[in-house]
Amino acid sequence: MDNFIYQNPTKLIFGQDQVEEQLINQLKPLGKRVLLVYGGGSIKKNGLYDQVTTLLTNNDFTVHELAGVEPNPRLSTVRKGVELSKEHDIDVLLAVGGGSVIDCTKAIAAGAKYEGDAWDLITKKAPVEAALPFGTILTLAATGSEMNSGSVITNWETHEKYGWGSPLTFPTFSILDPKNTLSVPKDQTIYGIVDMMTHVLEQYFHQQDNTPLQERMCEAVLKTVIDAGPGLVENLDDLARRETILYAGTIALNGTLQMGTRGDWASHNIEHAVSAVYDIPHAGGLAILFPEWLRYHKELGQRKLVQLATRVFDIDPAGKSDEELADTGINALADFWQSLGAPSKLADYDIDDSQIDSMAEKAMARGPFGNFNQLHKKDVEAILQASL
Ligand code: NAP
Ligand code: FE
Repeated sequence: MDNFIYQNPTKLIFGQDQVEEQLINQLKPLGKRVLLVYGGGSIKKNGLYDQVTTLLTNNDFTVHELAGVEPNPRLSTVRKGVELSKEHDIDVLLAVGGGSVIDCTKAIAAGAKYEGDAWDLITKKAPVEAALPFGTILTLAATGSEMNSGSVITNWETHEKYGWGSPLTFPTFSILDPKNTLSVPKDQTIYGIVDMMTHVLEQYFHQQDNTPLQERMCEAVLKTVIDAGPGLVENLDDLARRETILYAGTIALNGTLQMGTRGDWASHNIEHAVSAVYDIPHAGGLAILFPEWLRYHKELGQRKLVQLATRVFDIDPAGKSDEELADTGINALADFWQSLGAPSKLADYDIDDSQIDSMAEKAMARGPFGNFNQLHKKDVEAILQASL
């Protein structure tokens, strides 16, 4: 494995009723003037908005709000948040929502401490040198954004979507109560499961050798999600499974699985290019693209694919060649996602081949990418073509 230094400064507060118990204690040391950031209204329907604003006002915080963060959060909303933060001299941000709200908050946190346009930070034209502190209350198990420093922002004017991050954009604290995820609808529950599994798989496919523990940890997370996922999709009120999936989503992308390795992340990059053009759900895109990425790497990835088949999907290797096992593993993964209700082809989103060139071009914006295998434009086009 590679040498590594691991540091994750986010305080993770996990469990039922922890918003009531912990929010005020955690926020107090960070300041009095709060910008509350949330999405399109799900927190108003499930009561979390009332709970949080009551706690804040009863404890003498001054609260400003940025509502309406889009799924696939947009630069225009980040800019609004930066403006509000500067105008009201905000001390601390509080993100209440899913990955989109948290990612947007990260960009506001850094943008509020930057003189120029936040897009400079997202495109890495300028380094992040300071950021406001922020806490999160997570409402959707999926991205891991609650315990990592990454963020993905879309510039809808130029149709560009980029991941970025900085050691300064880890949440100071994140509160995860599985009860706050009970209202997540079926489609988003499925997308969350696909997203967290893809995060694990992106890290599973690395080129570092002698990583037996990293591989077993990835397999443990995958198996746990495969065990709990179908029952949860069947019964969305299953609090025990909500809890398992919530914890899995955080572990999948808080750095734990990537110590000493470099995950691939090419499929995420291609998905960002697709949703920069078509604004489809992130994990809907991944459910389509990732199996095709695997098929494209069937030979290069054969050892891991055999492991995926036998250790994760419990496929009996007797009488099967490694090539057959690799195929069976890929199909088992694609079948699992489809059985939950995830899409399998770009056509499911009415996407045809007319924009393949433009999507491949966007994916290449920062040059060749992928750590397991470096992809060039022709590779991206082939994967997109196979995904139609
Ligand atoms: P999301 O975009 O944050 O939310 C999806 C939908 O679920 C929204 O309509 C939201 O409604 C709703 N929702 C959230 N919580 C709910 C609840 N408790 N009850 C009912 N509805 C609820 O989904 P996400 O998958 O968490 O985030 C996706 C974004 O994260 C994408 O932009 C993706 O590229 C990015 N991403 C980031 C990372 C990272 O590490 N930072 C990793 C992977 C992906 P409201 O708007 O009304 O709240
Ligand atoms: Fe993701």
